[in-house]
Amino acid sequence: MAERTLAIIKPDAVKKNAAGGIIAMIQDAGFKVLAMKQTRLTPAQAGEFYAVHKERPFYGELVNFMCSGAVIPIALEKDNAVADYRALIGATDPAEAADGTIRKKYASSKGENAVHGSDSVENGRIEIGFFFSESEIAANVA
Ligand code: ADP
Ligand code: MG
Repeated sequence: MAERTLAIIKPDAVKKNAAGGIIAMIQDAGFKVLAMKQTRLTPAQAGEFYAVHKERPFYGELVNFMCSGAVIPIALEKDNAVADYRALIGATDPAEAADGTIRKKYASSKGENAVHGSDSVENGRIEIGFFFSESEIAANVA
């Protein structure tokens, strides 16, 4: 069944000009780009986006990293998009990411790991809504 998920190309990957390579890997894996933009998060926005991790010891570091430069959020659609995109990006820690995954190729550490991916259909819906309006999405639905 067609599902949606949110990808974000994180500041480390944008800075090293990896965005083009990452978008190519996403499209080659059969995902449709519904909406995409380059923007920069404020500390408040990054804190809200990752609020679920507020109690984790790495929260402050994560928020600082996510607003340290430009990010590229991308709303994606595909059958089984959530699980298939998680498989394409690989494990959170690049040392554990499988060969052929985006994080294996582009991530530098567990924190600076090149890309975000939603962890459920419901969170994908919420996260897409964080970055894109209904009309930005609707314009690109077939
Ligand atoms: P994922 O992005 O694979 O879903 P999590 O949801 O567990 O991983 O964590 C969110 C983000 O927080 C990670 O992508 C990474 O940028 C950062 N992070 C997770 N664990 C750590 C850690 N131990 N140290 C530093 N940053 C971390
Ligand atoms: Mg997560």
